[in-house]
Amino acid sequence: MIDHGEQAFGNVKAHAYSVHTLLIGTGAASLNCAEHLYELGVSDIAIVTDKLGAGTSSNSGSDKQTYYKIGIFGDVPDSPVDFAKALAAGGMMHGDLAYIEGLGSAPEFFHLVRNGVPFPFNAYGAFVGYKTDHDPRQRATSAGPKTSRFMVERALDQVRRRRGGDGKGRAADNLDNHPCPQYFVYQACKAGQKETHKNQSLYAPG
Ligand SMILES: Cc1cc2nc3c(=O)[nH]c(=O)nc-3n(C[C@H](O)[C@H](O)[C@H](O)COP(=O)(O)OP(=O)(O)OC[C@H]3O[C@@H](n4cnc5c(N)ncnc54)[C@H](O)[C@@H]3O)c2cc1C
Repeated sequence: MIDHGEQAFGNVKAHAYSVHTLLIGTGAASLNCAEHLYELGVSDIAIVTDKLGAGTSSNSGSDKQTYYKIGIFGDVPDSPVDFAKALAAGGMMHGDLAYIEGLGSAPEFFHLVRNGVPFPFNAYGAFVGYKTDHDPRQRATSAGPKTSRFMVERALDQVRRRRGGDGKGRAADNLDNHPCPQYFVYQACKAGQKETHKNQSLYAPG
């Protein structure tokens, strides 16, 4: 992270920082992205979020939350192409994107397992699945009504762990209660949440 000091942006003065990659939000998608960027060697990362713990992943729940993945259980064979065909069959998904999702499905599921998301498994270690909606296979699984919250919490643990050798982080510890580095706030606000900018906070894992 490079600190550029106070800068003028039009008629707004703000403290400016630059990073290799800025991630917006602290939902399951953003935190997973941060983890993988770090694994791929990109550690100059900042995450801007309006509030840790806000967002759909942390707060949605239903009787169960279904995690849909490629079939890895029982004697019903599955493949990325079959997975993609099923996903695209409803006409609401591009086949190439569905195929990419199929290819990444097993590695990403086991990434969550390694992170500690408590998906159920049987006595042999097989991650059991069930049929969901119109899917023809047993591709669904669930860690219960808090599945996506677990995904966020466990990913956040990983992101925090990578902030520095001592676990407390390099320059930035948990910045939730610190004054906002306003350049990021300004940029995030340009995306459309001007009225909430005072609540934005910077979370810098790198
Ligand atoms: C009731 C319910 C049940 C669901 N059940 C399922 C299910 O069974 N299976 C399934 O696969 N999906 C389900 N979903 C959908 C799934 O939960 C979401 O698609 C997923 O959590 C989205 O994750 P995300 O990381 O993209 O977004 P979010 O988790 O919403 O993260 C967005 C992040 O961005 C932040 N943010 C937003 N605006 C700004 C801004 N301007 N500046 C800075 N930060 C900002 C938010 O605070 C948040 O941290 C369900 C959703 C709901 C509501």
